[in-house]
Amino acid sequence: MEKKTEDIIQQSLNALLEDENFLPDLQGDTRQQAFKSLASILSTPNHINKSFLRIALENGQVVRVPAFRVQHNNTLGPYKGGIRFHESVNEDEVSNLAKLMTLKNALHEVPFGGGKGGVIIKPRDYSTKELNLICKKYVQYFSDIIGTDKDIPAPDVGTSEREMDWMMAEYKTIHPGQPYRGSFTGKSVINGGSLGRREATGKGVYFCYRYMLHNFVKENQNWLSEGDNIFAKTALGYIDRPLTMAVQGFGNVGSVAAMEAYKCNHMQNKVVAVSDQNVTVYNSEGLDIPGLLKYTSKHDGDLPTTKDALEEYDLKADILDRDSLLTLEVDTLVLAALEDQIHMNNVEDIKANMIVEGANAPITEDADQFLSEKGVVIIPDILANAGGVIVSYLEWMQGRETQFYNEDEIYELLYDKMQHTLDTILPQFYGDPFPLRQNCYIHSVTKLSTILYRQGKLY
Ligand code: GLU
Repeated sequence: MEKKTEDIIQQSLNALLEDENFLPDLQGDTRQQAFKSLASILSTPNHINKSFLRIALENGQVVRVPAFRVQHNNTLGPYKGGIRFHESVNEDEVSNLAKLMTLKNALHEVPFGGGKGGVIIKPRDYSTKELNLICKKYVQYFSDIIGTDKDIPAPDVGTSEREMDWMMAEYKTIHPGQPYRGSFTGKSVINGGSLGRREATGKGVYFCYRYMLHNFVKENQNWLSEGDNIFAKTALGYIDRPLTMAVQGFGNVGSVAAMEAYKCNHMQNKVVAVSDQNVTVYNSEGLDIPGLLKYTSKHDGDLPTTKDALEEYDLKADILDRDSLLTLEVDTLVLAALEDQIHMNNVEDIKANMIVEGANAPITEDADQFLSEKGVVIIPDILANAGGVIVSYLEWMQGRETQFYNEDEIYELLYDKMQHTLDTILPQFYGDPFPLRQNCYIHSVTKLSTILYRQGKLY
């Protein structure tokens, strides 16, 4: 997985090397040298911080919990990115996710660099008190490298506003008298968080999909229909007809994206399947998403797994295997769970023509290539799931000014920012031989490289 990001960065640099309008002052050997420097700067993290947190469990046993904070690049501003609590966390994964944050922030003009944290635990195996201690220890061990203008963590898989509240409070205790509101984002509203932050990633994912397939395509229908572009072909085929959608993951991102699709009156969506770590819930006529949300809110976030559970909430659906969601006959697949969900063992069975990456890196490198060659349009993670970090930026700004926006203002700012990125990327993408992911990377790499050059960092 790590290799994929690096490969696409390299391919972007190769394309830019050939582009004579890009850094025209650099010619000949100097140009070759500068591009080598860029490749090594952008593919390597600035710092990999690793600690073994000492945690006294409630049963009296003391355990060591491995924890990371990777700071990839701060060319555009303080490091920024979530902290993940999951049993599959490892150094390579966190490094790759930090790199994706650098590219994501550059793509959407969010003035942050890229970072990511991870703790190797299965949160469900720990009591609330133990999780609180893990959060406090994380901040104690990494207290020197975190801060409002240094590195600003946020929620990710397995963490939420509860953990950010705990962490910010610990940061404040360790650094008395120093600014602390901007040290963490994704906090609860009462604790200085932003309205709309919790929903931001899922709303952004759906907004991106709707904007591309509805607003942009309708506005540009004439010139799109003249060409021979994969996106145009798929998108024109999606106009003004009922579209089926399956959403993998029913957590903070998937459930919000599913609800946005369900209630959207610009497009005729039918969310026919959603899944979590246990099951797929399926109804070819469309699922009752508000009903499912009612169920999950009473069951620790889990979807119903039996007919009886469905009946109790008056839900009409079938229960299928967890992974069968991916291979259903649907128009659109939204991947909002974990990495590497589509790989060479299941890619040939994927039937959707459009895939939206709500999670980070949910498709392996070879599967991505297979799908792109087949003509499947993939809306990549750094484009689609940036809603979280965009509203984190708004939270960070509001914390500085101690002036807060209302929820409608937040969504307006979020959609404006995403629309600006899409309006920049989509016309560029049209008529271009590269897939959308490559286009997004080229855009980010262009920005980062230009700044590195202007700051004199390539000598
Ligand atoms: N964890 C989220 C992401 O991967 C949000 C990061 C943030 O808000 O800093 O984009």
